[in-house]
Amino acid sequence: MSEPVVSQNSIVILDEHTANRIAAGEVIERPASVVKELVENSIDAGATQVSVALEDGGKELIKVGDNGAGMPREDAVVALQRHATSKIRSAEDLFAIRTLGFRGEALPSIASVSIMELVTKHVSEPAATRLEVEAGTIKNLESVGAPQGTTVSVKRLFFNTPARMKFLRSAQTELSHITELVGRLALCYPNISFRLTHGPREVMSVTGTGEVMNAAVSVFGRDVAKQLVPIEFSVPSLKVWGYVSKPSFTRANRAYQVFFVNGRCIRNRTLLHAADQAYRDLIIQQGRFPVLVIFVDIDPELVDVNVHPTKAEVKFSSDQEIHSVVHKAVREALMSGGAMPTVSEARQTRSAVTARRDLPNHQSSLLPPEEADVEAFRNAVLRRSESQGTGTIDDPFDWSSRPQTVEAPESPAGPVEMPALVRLRNARVIGQARNTYILAESEDGVLIIDQHVAHERVLYEQMKKSRDGGQAVMQGLVIPITLELSRREGLVVGERLDDLRAIGFDMEVFGRDAFVVRAVPADAKPKEAEQLLRDIISELVEVSIAKHLMVRPEQVLITSACKMAIKAGDSLSMPEMEGLVKRLIASDNPFVCPHGRPILISLTNWELDRKFKRAG
Ligand code: ADP
Ligand code: MG
Repeated sequence: MSEPVVSQNSIVILDEHTANRIAAGEVIERPASVVKELVENSIDAGATQVSVALEDGGKELIKVGDNGAGMPREDAVVALQRHATSKIRSAEDLFAIRTLGFRGEALPSIASVSIMELVTKHVSEPAATRLEVEAGTIKNLESVGAPQGTTVSVKRLFFNTPARMKFLRSAQTELSHITELVGRLALCYPNISFRLTHGPREVMSVTGTGEVMNAAVSVFGRDVAKQLVPIEFSVPSLKVWGYVSKPSFTRANRAYQVFFVNGRCIRNRTLLHAADQAYRDLIIQQGRFPVLVIFVDIDPELVDVNVHPTKAEVKFSSDQEIHSVVHKAVREALMSGGAMPTVSEARQTRSAVTARRDLPNHQSSLLPPEEADVEAFRNAVLRRSESQGTGTIDDPFDWSSRPQTVEAPESPAGPVEMPALVRLRNARVIGQARNTYILAESEDGVLIIDQHVAHERVLYEQMKKSRDGGQAVMQGLVIPITLELSRREGLVVGERLDDLRAIGFDMEVFGRDAFVVRAVPADAKPKEAEQLLRDIISELVEVSIAKHLMVRPEQVLITSACKMAIKAGDSLSMPEMEGLVKRLIASDNPFVCPHGRPILISLTNWELDRKFKRAG
């Protein structure tokens, strides 16, 4: 085994043994991986300003500039060779890594699949160095004038590996990955200013004031930042604080879940799990994640920070305590207003489920679920009134979530509540208000149902069942519709064609960006089918732009349900309203719409009487 070759400055070529011990091969998958490596290098170099400029989602150009330490000429040349790194010298050092990068593979890997230009200036030299590399071969080396720091331009990524190039997605999709990555880095490094541009457009600009909340506003925008609620909870030797999003604001992945332990951005399963638990039962949609920016200030004695390749991990001496404090901090913030009004609704569905467990076995097997709920409820109330009587304060008919009933769902004890489903089942439609709300009464009070979201929920579940069961309920069109779409619309529809078919839009490709539609879902009005489809498509396009994302299959359901649903302002007949309420009762979750908005609110008799000063 040969000695490492030490260059005059600080970069060392790792010997083969060490190189091989390092995870085999840097995988540069897509533009975002390039941005990640380059920005991490900038951070490692002590930069306080990092700019990322892209062309065509990074497929044409990725240019990362920083004001960090830069590299002397010799180091720059060495850095482009495989396994050059200034950060480790031997296998032993692997276990004492302090910086983000360490494999010394990123620059050469990227250089080997692109046309790279590197301009770098170090204080120790009078001029900057400019290097041009094509497919890993240095083509040009010269001195130029440039301020201290480094700029790496990666042009035409994968130009020499067409197979990999094929896997790249649309510019929009690649850009969305990069945006998310830079956003996350901006949150983790609030002292560094980040600027991300795509062509002439500024995508993100973060000033690097050191304030995480400031970074959050830049990353998420003011509107989203408003969806964040502050959290705080402390015990001796431990304080947890920060911001988390209301359950109504979620994202499709965990990119915006960051944790800081004593000021350092880290990953830790205990923290993640504790936060997840706090949202359990509040986020109904599968695969959606809240935004979390959580700080843990802890006695350094009680934590072991161990920095791993690119992600810092920590170990706490008491995982349990951390877990419970984080859980409490998040849960309390959500319960004391952060999640309203959705919380009480979600909690109700849950209590209905819990109540079912109270049933003796023979009953639960004989009765349909709704009956079981009624029975369970009756039994529970009976048991309750036997043991303690039914006081007004603990009125089980009260839906409003008073503090004492707002408990973590894990705790089995708690006041008995009438399953919401039962109240809804017993309700009788009495009219419509403002052509928007359906009014219903039950023996326990009055229900106000938002007709649009109620219908949306019903349609959503029905289409979901069609899709999952592979059998859409549809009606054929006498005259098929031909849809001529824009390029962007055509792309979105093309990507989600199967999902549209699965819910009842029987359509086929009919030339570039054109489709022929032969049938529509049974719930759609055939006369309005074309407008409906166009509305759905333009909303899908909007979502894909707004979120910088490829449209998820789920979004097709949500959007279609929303567009097909009765609108606020539509006048409904009694039978129509009764029909809708019946379908709502039969749905799996009659309380929260697919967007997370509440479907109904209630005024209990107790509340009504109290308001009219009848209680006594
Ligand atoms: P690693 O980051 O794993 O060391 P890289 O291939 O990413 O490997 O970078 C190789 C070396 O080049 C780094 O160790 C660092 O010394 C130098 N380097 C890369 N990018 C920069 C930069 N933006 N500023 C200063 N030095 C850099
Ligand atoms: Mg690196």
